Amino acid sequence: MIVIMKHDATTAQIANMTARIEGMGCTTHLSQGEERTIIGVIGNGRPIDREQIERMSGVERAVAVLRPFKLASREFHPQDTVVPINGISIGGKPLTIIAGPCSVESRAQLLETAEAVQQAGAHVLRGGAFKPRTSPYSFQGLGEEALRLLAEARSLTGLPIITEVISPELVPLVTTYADILQVGARNMQNFALLHAVGESQRPVLLKRGMMATMEELLMAAEYILSHGNQRVILCERGIRTFENYTRNTLDLSAVPMLKQLSHLPVIVDPSHATGKWELVESMSRAAIAAGADGLIIEVHPRPEEALSDGAQSLKPGRFAALVESLKPIAEAVGRTL
Ligand code: PEP
Ligand code: MN
Repeated sequence: MIVIMKHDATTAQIANMTARIEGMGCTTHLSQGEERTIIGVIGNGRPIDREQIERMSGVERAVAVLRPFKLASREFHPQDTVVPINGISIGGKPLTIIAGPCSVESRAQLLETAEAVQQAGAHVLRGGAFKPRTSPYSFQGLGEEALRLLAEARSLTGLPIITEVISPELVPLVTTYADILQVGARNMQNFALLHAVGESQRPVLLKRGMMATMEELLMAAEYILSHGNQRVILCERGIRTFENYTRNTLDLSAVPMLKQLSHLPVIVDPSHATGKWELVESMSRAAIAAGADGLIIEVHPRPEEALSDGAQSLKPGRFAALVESLKPIAEAVGRTL
């Protein structure tokens, strides 16, 4: 249920309402907009008497939230969420570009890429340390050594870093280094991991599972939010369909749909969505035009030598040109870059 307070409701009336709901054994989530305050109510399984709530002073009306995701829903939190991360933020008017290699392969490879993407205008540096590979014989990542290199790249460039965490046991180690924890598509419904990243209180980039519906993605976000961690960013990275010319099918309609259903920022990963560097530029532009809050793009100085995802990685020069080409599109949709 959400309780919509009158626009002139006093602080005392809001506090009174919150105390009353909590006294019934429910949890409250306050959303203070410019116009009015909304109190989100997570029930305790027992029915709540809506009319009784509506009779309290300062209340305009109480409405049942029918969707299974509550904290992630726009009803609970009408304003867009802006996620602050070490000096930058994701969501709101400015777009966020995350870029870097699929995997951290060596100090030279990472630092060269980090400097190039920073100069091209990226805001966050990506790089996999623990890689969730389809084959156990493929490169699995450099582990903690990669985390140390990412931290070094952060101090050289000033860019916050994002890296994937693939199991709950690794959350303490990865949070020692990373500014944003990435939950990969293969782990979107690893509920133990969702609980652990929720408890960490770190910003989390949650990727849509390969065969997940938008509702399943939002329910996964709900796990993280239920720990009081409100810094969740959703990522559309393509879903599996019958089409084989592309690695996945980029579901661009997920961008406006998720933004309608939820207040959380939504970014797009055109690299994993297409699997082909030649398609990354056009899909990046389309994603921004569709209302995405940012992009996560794989960049490698020598894609032909990459230990993972070379075929979908842009060279630094093309990445720089892409960022430039996004500027007029950002402006056309009322965003800044
Ligand atoms: C990645 O970002 O390198 C990655 C493995 O992505 P996804 O989880 O979307 O496949
Ligand atoms: Mn990759």
